[in-house]
Amino acid sequence: MREDWIQPILDDAKAQGLQRAARVYPEAGGLIRIDGKEVLNFSSNDYLDLARHPHVMDRAREALDLYGVGSTASRLVSGTLPIHEELEVRIAREKGYESALVFGSGYMANAGTIPALAGRGDLIFADKLVHASMIDACKLSGAKLVRYAHNDAEALEKRLEQYAAAAGRKLVITESVFSMDGDIAPLKDIAALAEQQGAMLMVDEAHSSGTFGPNGAGLIRELGIENAVTVSMGTMSKAMAGYGGFIACSKPLRELLVHSARAFIYTTAPPPAVIGAALGALDVLEATPRLGSILQANADYFRSLLNDAGLDTLQSQSQIIPVVIGDNEKALAISQKLRAEGLIAAAIRPPTVPAGSARLRLSITLAHLVDDLERAAQSIISAVKKG
Ligand SMILES: *Cc1c(COP(=O)(O)O)cnc(C)c1O
Repeated sequence: MREDWIQPILDDAKAQGLQRAARVYPEAGGLIRIDGKEVLNFSSNDYLDLARHPHVMDRAREALDLYGVGSTASRLVSGTLPIHEELEVRIAREKGYESALVFGSGYMANAGTIPALAGRGDLIFADKLVHASMIDACKLSGAKLVRYAHNDAEALEKRLEQYAAAAGRKLVITESVFSMDGDIAPLKDIAALAEQQGAMLMVDEAHSSGTFGPNGAGLIRELGIENAVTVSMGTMSKAMAGYGGFIACSKPLRELLVHSARAFIYTTAPPPAVIGAALGALDVLEATPRLGSILQANADYFRSLLNDAGLDTLQSQSQIIPVVIGDNEKALAISQKLRAEGLIAAAIRPPTVPAGSARLRLSITLAHLVDDLERAAQSIISAVKKG
């Protein structure tokens, strides 16, 4: 009786081809074994194939042995261990900022930082396609949210001008590499506009940390615009293969967040092994700085195979490659057909992407060799053309 409203919602989702379930995979990563068969997984964010890297696992184990499984308290109580500090110092240095702050996840980094930067009476200008974690953070902040057309610096300029006389703080938020489209924001233009209008700028580098820039430091660093970007946000859960989120910023901003970011204060400090793994991933990035450029060269090649066959990969310029199908059911059917051929390519449907733009979202990782990419491209091309 009290729950009889639930089933109609689930039935409705199913009727629209939008049913969701957390399917169990026997392993994680870009190349996995299912029922004894090798499967290419194009839905893993383990871009640099570090999730089972011996050094990364060693550093996780060392931290586990030294400190135990949990940090046993929140950061401001007694949960901050030497490795939390070591990681923050290291991230700040790599990213080219004065300081850094680690959060429990990328979601929490956004949920904690954005409401600390802007609140009631302030304005947030957000790209139309920013990640759900940023949108949720904006809602939590109480600031007025103004959206601008995706990756369109002119649209942002118009919005900023429209509110030029508005009181309160202004914050512009964007991703660098967009999570669903794999395209890249015009960061230099956006940074210049934010500066002109006295707005802060926060860039979510979840998908460009580790995969672009010197030692995988990201696109802000590659473009040398650290001074024009107030907050550089990233996650340890994608190219760094583990878990946890972080931001790099100025010292005063870090101090402010320590005082006011609720997603930092009211939660347990990330466990030691997770922090150890992140340090291990940074070691690998420093020792083998070309990983990101190899990944991008492979992704460029794969994209060109799809494009030469007439497939639409939108404006992708990264290891994230969408193949637009359009119809929800058709996208699902193609994904299932590929699965039978040993390829995991998730069908991404609304509301994660705009209605009518259901797609396969392919993540290229270093677990995929050039031969694998050629074989996968052939399968995808033929499934899309027949589908
Ligand atoms: C994955 C992702 C996040 C969240 O990071 P988690 O560490 O998985 O919580 C935030 N922003 C973007 C753009 C992402 O793709």
